[in-house]
Order: sequence, then C-alpha cells, then structure tokens
Amino acid sequence: MLLILTILGAIATITLYGGRSWCHYVCPFGMVQTVFTGPRGLLGSKAHTKPMGSITQSMCRTVGPEPGQEQSTCINCKSPCLDIDSEKSYWYHLNRPGRQLVQYGYLGLVVGYIVYYLLYAGNPDYYFSGAWSHEPNQLGSLLKPGFYIAGEAINIPKLVAAPLTLAGFAGLGYSFGTYLELFLRRFYQRHNTETNREQVRHQVFQSARFLPSIFFHLRRTSRDQSPAAQGPASFPGIDCLYQCSLDLPYLGTQP
Ligand code: SF4
Repeated sequence: MLLILTILGAIATITLYGGRSWCHYVCPFGMVQTVFTGPRGLLGSKAHTKPMGSITQSMCRTVGPEPGQEQSTCINCKSPCLDIDSEKSYWYHLNRPGRQLVQYGYLGLVVGYIVYYLLYAGNPDYYFSGAWSHEPNQLGSLLKPGFYIAGEAINIPKLVAAPLTLAGFAGLGYSFGTYLELFLRRFYQRHNTETNREQVRHQVFQSARFLPSIFFHLRRTSRDQSPAAQGPASFPGIDCLYQCSLDLPYLGTQP
C-alpha cells in the first residue's frame, strides 16, 4: 500500500510541477542522495568544467532526432540542481539552514537504527538472525513494550519507542557533528593552519558521509542473516577499501 501511494504521489507531483520535483522536494530519499553524493562521485564527470549549455551528469534529457543525440528537457525545477552539477550544488548548500541537521542527523539515524534492535530485544541476535523481517502480526505488536533492557521489559509502546530512539540518535549525531566542527576550527586556529570555515565543515561532512558507509560494510559479518546484509558475496575489508577510495580523495577539495 505504501509503495502504491508513493508511486501515485510521484506521478501526481511530477505531472503538476515537472522535472524531478518529487525527488528534490518531497521524497525523503532525496536527502539520502544529498548526504551520500557529496561534491560528486570519484568517477563522475566534472560538470563545472563543461561548456555552458552542455548536457551533464544526470540532467533531465530526451533523445533528439539524430541517432545518439540527446536534448535537454530541463525546466529549472531546482537551482542549483544536483543532477546538473553536483559540485556546484554541494558548495551552494553547504552553509544553508538545516544542511548540518541532514548530514549529521543521518549519521545518528544509521547508528540508532541498529542500536534500536539491541534495545528492543536485549541482545544482538534478534538483528543478526533477520527474524524481524518475517515476524508474524507486526501491526499487532505495535503497542507492546518497545524496550527490553537489562532483562526488563519497559512499558513504552514500540510505536513510540522506535521513533523516539531514532530521533534521539539523530539529535546525538547532530550534536556530535557540530561539536566536531567547532573542535576542528579551534584546533586549526591554534596551529595557525589556513583552513577556513567551509573547508572544516566539508571535512566533517565527508567523514559523516564515509562513516555510515563503512559501518554498513563492516557489519556484514558471517552471522548476519538480515535482509540488508544479503547481496553479492563480498569481503568487508575490500568493501571498506573501495569506500575509502571513493570518499577520501574529496576530503581536501574546497569551493
Ligand atoms: S535537470 Fe532541470 S528539470 Fe531536471 S531536476 Fe535538474 S533542474 Fe529539475
């Protein structure tokens, strides 16, 4: 039902407003894309060095009359647009209100997502067994105790406990990220390093982008039977190295 409503919502929004208005303004996954894209992908094209009017990156387009020809269908639904020039969009939004909350809150959300399973079941086996993905009568358990800590069920309904934990961890992630920025700014000042506010924020943003990815790869242990860990066979170490190669080159970039 949720999927059908999402598809209908996307069709209605795009019919009314065009472009990728659904992705940019309504869909929560737009925020996830913002967090993970950063300035751009390591192998992505450099849109900011292309001539004006070029069709760049994932810009909206259609096929032209000639074979292999492409034509822009951009209606300027967002400016600057992540799909046209991800680097320009990244630096433009770096200091906008709410941008820190999205970046650092997401880091907290990822940690809170895993921690809640521990708080709910009292041990990590519930998460790693993947039992939660095929539990019967999930709706019927929404009002049952949502925490089980130190052998005691705590009488806060699951319906409240889960969002409470996620919101709490998102808040912690935000506090941690903003404190780390402050700490680094003072550190650079003490050591007379010419690193401006944007560069500091960028470094912490990239770390906050990198950590959830590494966390995701590292938790793919041999006992992890959860659906999120199922996929092509891979080695956590190689996944982590791959992620480092994608993220680390961008730590030193600047506007
Ligand atoms: S390319 Fe143009 S129409 Fe497509 S999402 Fe970006 S601004 Fe909107």
